Amino acid sequence: MTAPTEAPAEPDTSAAAAAHFGFFTFEVQRTRRIGHSFLRVTFGGESLREFRSGGYDQSLSLFLPLSHQEHTVLPSTDEDTWFGAWRAMPEAERPVMRSYTVRDQRRSPSGGVEVDVDFVLHGDASPASAWAGRARAGSRIMAIGPRTGANKSVRFQPPAGTRTVLLYADETALPAAAAILARLPEGTAVKAWFQVPHADDRLDLAAPADAEVVWIQPAADGSGRTGQVLEALRADGSASGSAPAPGTYAWVAGEAGTVRAVRRHFVQERHIDRRCVRFTGYWRLGASEEELLAEAYAGKAPSEDPESAL
Ligand SMILES: Cc1cc2nc3c(=O)[nH]c(=O)nc-3n(C[C@H](O)[C@H](O)[C@H](O)COP(=O)(O)OP(=O)(O)OC[C@H]3O[C@@H](n4cnc5c(N)ncnc54)[C@H](O)[C@@H]3O)c2cc1C
Repeated sequence: MTAPTEAPAEPDTSAAAAAHFGFFTFEVQRTRRIGHSFLRVTFGGESLREFRSGGYDQSLSLFLPLSHQEHTVLPSTDEDTWFGAWRAMPEAERPVMRSYTVRDQRRSPSGGVEVDVDFVLHGDASPASAWAGRARAGSRIMAIGPRTGANKSVRFQPPAGTRTVLLYADETALPAAAAILARLPEGTAVKAWFQVPHADDRLDLAAPADAEVVWIQPAADGSGRTGQVLEALRADGSASGSAPAPGTYAWVAGEAGTVRAVRRHFVQERHIDRRCVRFTGYWRLGASEEELLAEAYAGKAPSEDPESAL
């Protein structure tokens, strides 16, 4: 089994994939507002004993109850049948499936396992954001997540010899970027551009001592996102024409249109080898995750292949 967003046409039910991922029941332990736009939801429960995050930008798929439901109920968690059973549910009852990031996994004081997920609150009309806003201790959701640390939902995979890391993240990818920064070894040269909706979203982040972080705030209505990022990237002294430092690796995630533009900037303007630019559209302006999944199931998802056309 694999996280569905990584398996466009058909969920991968091969034995090899099944070893890496599984279903988990996540029980809300507590919630905490950590920024203007961010709510941290801490999950626990017996089922998490088998959960093994690979760290960095480890993603997982959450199944969230609709507004009239308290807990998530799936008709099947069998690796061969869950997908068909979930899709066959009436829309008014079907939990929404959304991609999120494991911000942190740790042992709880009682010896169990706790997992933090940081939700961007972007409005009650959007099911996942709305669910986070009403999440309460004791509420149970389902997740497909990692059972082994080495799994393909960890996309941050710098090649051996990486000495410089460039990061671009918007608010949805800040949890992933924060987890990446926290694990980079001292001595790694880091430049990061983080785009958040509000000044109070400039979170304190653990990072290598010399990491340079540029915060960018887009207009409240989301317009001009891409232009503002490109302006900030071009204002950086090392952007102009010359070859990148040897061992440069870039990771780019956020709104799909902006991600495309930032990737193009790194490859065409900074001349970074495109194989060393990992990019992922986390959401797309104007499209719900259902619409993005429908494209994926139809084989029309934009490629994440580093060698794909710019
Ligand atoms: C691998 C991966 C990891 C992710 N990790 C995280 C994470 O840790 N935290 C997190 O908050 N998100 C994360 N996301 C993004 C999240 O899955 C999307 O934002 C998702 O659309 C939220 O679902 P929803 O039900 O709230 O909105 P949807 O129903 O999917 O979308 C409804 C509308 O809201 C818009 N929209 C979606 N997200 C935003 C936003 N942030 N701001 C403004 N408008 C928006 C859409 O364009 C659409 O028009 C991740 C995505 C991926 C692919």
